[in-house]
Amino acid sequence: MDISFGPELESFRAEVAAFLDCAPTPDIREAGRKTTSVFAPFESVMAWQKILHAKGWVAPGWPAQYGGTGWSVEQRYIFAEEYFKRDLPPLLPNGLQMVGPLLIDLGSEEQKAKYLPGILSGEDYWTQGYSEPNAGSDLAALSCAAVADGDDYIINGQKIWTTLAHKANRMFMLVRTSTEGKKQQGITFLLLDRTDYPGMEIRPIIGLDGIPEQCEVFFDNVRVPQTARVGAENDGWSVAKALLRHERGGSAGSPAMYRKLELIRVTAQGTPSPFGGMVADDPVFQRDIGELEADIASHAAFEKLVISGHPLSHDPAMPSMNKVMSSELAQRVSVLMTRVAGTEALPLQLEALNIGSNVAALGQELELVAMPYYLNSRATTIYAGTNEVQRDLIARTLPAA
Ligand SMILES: Cc1cc2nc3c(=O)[nH]c(=O)nc-3n(C[C@H](O)[C@H](O)[C@H](O)COP(=O)(O)OP(=O)(O)OC[C@H]3O[C@@H](n4cnc5c(N)ncnc54)[C@H](O)[C@@H]3O)c2cc1C
Repeated sequence: MDISFGPELESFRAEVAAFLDCAPTPDIREAGRKTTSVFAPFESVMAWQKILHAKGWVAPGWPAQYGGTGWSVEQRYIFAEEYFKRDLPPLLPNGLQMVGPLLIDLGSEEQKAKYLPGILSGEDYWTQGYSEPNAGSDLAALSCAAVADGDDYIINGQKIWTTLAHKANRMFMLVRTSTEGKKQQGITFLLLDRTDYPGMEIRPIIGLDGIPEQCEVFFDNVRVPQTARVGAENDGWSVAKALLRHERGGSAGSPAMYRKLELIRVTAQGTPSPFGGMVADDPVFQRDIGELEADIASHAAFEKLVISGHPLSHDPAMPSMNKVMSSELAQRVSVLMTRVAGTEALPLQLEALNIGSNVAALGQELELVAMPYYLNSRATTIYAGTNEVQRDLIARTLPAA
């Protein structure tokens, strides 16, 4: 059976490949090879975003009228395949996959005109201010408060786990504007034009992998205009949920996982096994990589369904299913990676991981990234809503027995 793409799509693939072969600078390629989380090294990936934007290829999932490519599902998938084959850094998600699509759906015309161009071009980077020390899974318990004052709101409180807040120049956030009624009813969604307002303080948190990726953000009488609101006051919960659907369901992760499997396979072929021969000859390794590949293939089919807009993709359980499957597969890939890298992966080589570093890495490329990737992947089943909570959401969509 021939399941290859037809000649038109193969010529599209050749066009994509030709561009991706020559457009990224050496720094951008290095950033891709040294990406150990969903968040690629910031400066390099934002420089890459500007190049893709100039080509018109920065937002394959957006409607063409707002700057999307107008590509078919197959074209989007081919683009992702060629992209990750070359180890290019994944674009940062908060603008392109989260607040951008949200504004297209629910923003006012003024908000679209003001914010979408900067999201596409990479001039702006947005951080997500949802979680608080006492509001994670129970997000509606949030207490960071905004009080109306003339045409403004005055914000007081704290956010936590705010990814890349120290690099972002804009923030979307949830605030409490009422304590009346159900807790979901008193929440408002705001867009902050700056992350350096007087009274706003950002403190990075060093992660398990030694890299400061998340932050705490403190608000002490921070004044923002009420025009910053998306939707009505106290109706931010429905806006927040709409954005979470984009966060949990918006991208194709399987091409990147396939690429990691390929790196694992190549490394296994050159790594001696303690049981004799090479790791690649070990039947347990062969079973594990085979099972993983089959599960990634099944996830790839699921992702194609999601990005196709097929009626099933509108099922309320889809974003949660996508989140659970992709995060657990990423963890399994990271475990296999550390197994193949073995003891060589034990030291965290933070200096060698810097882009342009003159500190040579110990061991092969996979051994440099395996441990930070493994450690960072522990968080995949926590962020964007924990997998326990996602399973609960999936169960609730099932018809009662
Ligand atoms: C790396 C990383 C990046 C993040 N980035 C951001 C960000 O950019 N912006 C942002 O706002 N937030 C961010 N978060 C926060 C993330 O959304 C929360 O950590 C997550 O929602 C869980 O909340 P919590 O940490 O308060 O844990 P808790 O809610 O306290 O949960 C603790 C444990 O209890 C379980 N649990 C809780 N409630 C239930 C339930 N009802 N049923 C079953 N089990 C339950 C959880 O599954 C978990 O295992 C990030 C987190 C991480 C780790």
